[in-house]
Amino acid sequence: MPNILEKYDVLIAGTGVAGLNCALHLPAGARVLMLTKSAADRSDSFLAQGGICVLKSPSDFGKYFDDTMRAGHYENDPAAVELMIRSSPALIEELVSYGVAFARDEKGNFRYTREGGHSEPRILFHDDITGREITSHLLAAVRKLPNVQIMEGYELLDVISEGNECCGGVVRENETGKVFPVYADYTLLATGGVGGLWENSTNYRHLTGDALGIALKNGIELEHIDYVQIHPTTFYSEKHGRRFLISESVRGEGAVLLDKNMQRFCNELLPRDIVTSAIRAQMAKDGTKHVWLDMRPIGEKTVKEHFPTIYRHCLDEGYDVLQTPIPVVPAQHYFMGGVKVDLDGRTSMKRLFAAGETACNGVHGKNRLASNSLLESLIWAERAAKAMTAEGFGTKRKYPQRDLSGYSDYAALKKDYERAIREEAEREAYCD
Ligand SMILES: Cc1cc2nc3c(=O)[nH]c(=O)nc-3n(C[C@H](O)[C@H](O)[C@H](O)COP(=O)(O)OP(=O)(O)OC[C@H]3O[C@@H](n4cnc5c(N)ncnc54)[C@H](O)[C@@H]3O)c2cc1C
Repeated sequence: MPNILEKYDVLIAGTGVAGLNCALHLPAGARVLMLTKSAADRSDSFLAQGGICVLKSPSDFGKYFDDTMRAGHYENDPAAVELMIRSSPALIEELVSYGVAFARDEKGNFRYTREGGHSEPRILFHDDITGREITSHLLAAVRKLPNVQIMEGYELLDVISEGNECCGGVVRENETGKVFPVYADYTLLATGGVGGLWENSTNYRHLTGDALGIALKNGIELEHIDYVQIHPTTFYSEKHGRRFLISESVRGEGAVLLDKNMQRFCNELLPRDIVTSAIRAQMAKDGTKHVWLDMRPIGEKTVKEHFPTIYRHCLDEGYDVLQTPIPVVPAQHYFMGGVKVDLDGRTSMKRLFAAGETACNGVHGKNRLASNSLLESLIWAERAAKAMTAEGFGTKRKYPQRDLSGYSDYAALKKDYERAIREEAEREAYCD
């Protein structure tokens, strides 16, 4: 096995913002192994367009809190929401210290944009590639850490546990199909969302909710796994593959939705689930496969400065957004449910943590407020790292030997996970 040891202090599955920020907050003396199924820069964290929310002044706390709760249909955990909001200024300061450049005005102050569900502009951004800006800086910082090893093309297939205590994971080298155990004092599930299970999604196809399958297999508690967010505006295409997102902040900056007669039909700045329902109803009424999004009200300067990637993508698809509306359709985008965790990212299995989109910490309730997910992922990853550190490393444990013959049929295992996730989501939806 190239370089992989049998035992680490921490095993992290996933190299998106959650996995990376956990690694960055572990002590220099902790030996850490990070796994990613794909290349390290192929995570949804790299795709985030709109931005990251921040508590821009203490006086905005009440409105930010209310906006998050209202978007989540008040099914959010108020303690988690408060923790996220109050932690945000320090987190942003830390990102800036890694070199992350958010848009600023002529005086050097942050510029804030706005998306649906926000009563105030409070979203920091970097053009329309905020996720790439943040995640590439975190990845570069992690790559400099001598105690952290990143292995690309390695997949976590399962956790190894004894008496509801996690001892590491079963890992597959995807190129060779070789399966082997990696033992660890602590394991973090940071495997992202579930878009790969959907035909139309903005997510990378390899994000298939693996942590959920693993949790279901091992009796680890899940929450709200039927809470899936559909983004109202992705570029409509007949082609197969990942759907290209048209960030909500284009509507925050003035873009409007139009029906087949080029008439407005809803308030574009309502929360995502409400705008999605309005679009679906309009498509059914008009008998169309999409509606139109008109970005012309934004103006050429802002389109080219704030949304260069969207502008270029639409041009490549044959639409100049400065001249004409573009076709848009809702698609799966985000997953509010997940592996149930407490305020420090602890799951119901001892020594097993989860953070990021795969975890459910109560921040989002039934529907995520735009640009809260990078923030929430980063904060819970840091908290998980600190909780592991407080519990301590290097405990002398006897690690259970695991018969790995049950993992030889990879396709069957993945099918079982997918079936279990779908069945559980249906069961939850039925019980709601
Ligand atoms: C198009 C798009 C735009 C978005 N825009 C915004 C935005 O503007 N603001 C915002 O706040 N949020 C946005 N989001 C959501 C946000 O990007 C994600 O919720 C967040 O990045 C999740 O981070 P993560 O670390 O949990 O997961 P990811 O970044 O998705 O990383 C998951 C990692 O897990 C790895 N992995 C998966 N399964 C396994 C396995 N079994 N073994 C090993 N590795 C595995 C993957 O390879 C990957 O490295 C957007 C999402 C998309 C798709």
